[in-house]
Amino acid sequence: MDHFQYKDGVMHAEDVALPRIADEVGTPVYVYSTATLKRHFRVFREAFARINPLICFAVKANSNQAVLTTLAREGAGADVVSLGELMRALKAGIPGERIVFSGVGKTDEEMEVALNANIKQFSVESEAELEALNSVAARLGKIAPVSIRVNPDVDAMTHAKISTGKSENKFGIAWQKADAVYARIGELANVKAVAVNVHIGSQLTKLEPFKEAFIRVIALVRDLRAKGHDITHIDLGGGLGIPYAPDAEVPPAPSAYGEMIQEVMGDIDCDIILEPGRLIAGNAGILLSKTIYEKRGENRTFYIIDAAMNDLTRPAMYDAYHAIAPVNEPQANDPVVADFVGPVCESSDVFAKDRKTAPLKRDDLVVIKSAGAYGAVMASTYNSRPLVPEVLVDGDRFAVIRKRQSLEDLLALDALPSWLSDDED
Ligand SMILES: *Cc1c(COP(=O)(O)O)cnc(C)c1O
Repeated sequence: MDHFQYKDGVMHAEDVALPRIADEVGTPVYVYSTATLKRHFRVFREAFARINPLICFAVKANSNQAVLTTLAREGAGADVVSLGELMRALKAGIPGERIVFSGVGKTDEEMEVALNANIKQFSVESEAELEALNSVAARLGKIAPVSIRVNPDVDAMTHAKISTGKSENKFGIAWQKADAVYARIGELANVKAVAVNVHIGSQLTKLEPFKEAFIRVIALVRDLRAKGHDITHIDLGGGLGIPYAPDAEVPPAPSAYGEMIQEVMGDIDCDIILEPGRLIAGNAGILLSKTIYEKRGENRTFYIIDAAMNDLTRPAMYDAYHAIAPVNEPQANDPVVADFVGPVCESSDVFAKDRKTAPLKRDDLVVIKSAGAYGAVMASTYNSRPLVPEVLVDGDRFAVIRKRQSLEDLLALDALPSWLSDDED
């Protein structure tokens, strides 16, 4: 359930009519709903009432300070993958003890800042990283809490570009090798093993791959404990999918996911960390856009809208489906079939092909739904299109939580070398 609904024939975000936001902020603009963010977080937490996990929101899904602060106040921790995300999480008030650091390429600098912030766990993805972390921690006189991300070699049955748990993916350490790596942790003075973690991919719509992976992880934890490692928690990653298309397969509910986890955990006495991203933020945001032109091609109709692949890249990158709806509620009559495309000069700048829609005219507003995760965070300025703003709605009020980048700001990032500049003597 989300809070983007028609009221009196006009789509609202909670109690704010979307045309109001378009008037005041312009289009395209990302709009997030506080009530939806909170609801998704609470439903997820309640699915695990018995095991009371630490829920570390995957910051890469949506890293806006206002979104992170909203979730931090609900009790969320953070899963970060870069120094920038770590700074964002800390700035949003998430304490180090609720932050886990993932990613295959952590630099010494990132490790140093994270060690000084006393984060909960480094999710280590290679032996080389383990050695580097030990050196950085030794230099700072610290002991780094380590979890090995195991690659369970299971097929997540999701899009290839968001599948991370097969042996051919760059992520994690082969589960058969994990034992030896934990033995190595035992030999190093400035790292200690505290957890095992796994994350097999994103937008999963079935429970079986999760279950297969979690069973492997739990067997490994029992084995490691038997060998004397003090494993205090298991980090089961994120990846649970959300419904994007009205007629597509409905992903398992958080409650079913929670029950499965409680079942595979059995009597193992271990704290749990979960890292949902998309599930919390995906359907809590939309991209509000405006129709620029209707163009009738040889055998198809195009709606050219003012949002493009640089603003929301998922369709171009992952062939992702996003529902699109007019802001003015359509009357049930005469739908047309059209392609929704952006102005960018790439044939992949297509949001929807052959989509049944109410007819639109110039300046009509449309929303691209389910854009709250992996939307604004993946935006670029391709075609010299400034980054679009973000707005957060809460009941009947809204605020700009990231302003639109100006063309001056965009151009000011470039500099001329002395030999090209006019004022060179
Ligand atoms: C991306 C990522 C997540 C979040 O994935 P979602 O599909 O958004 O839930 C969690 N953990 C790790 C390590 C990730 O890379």
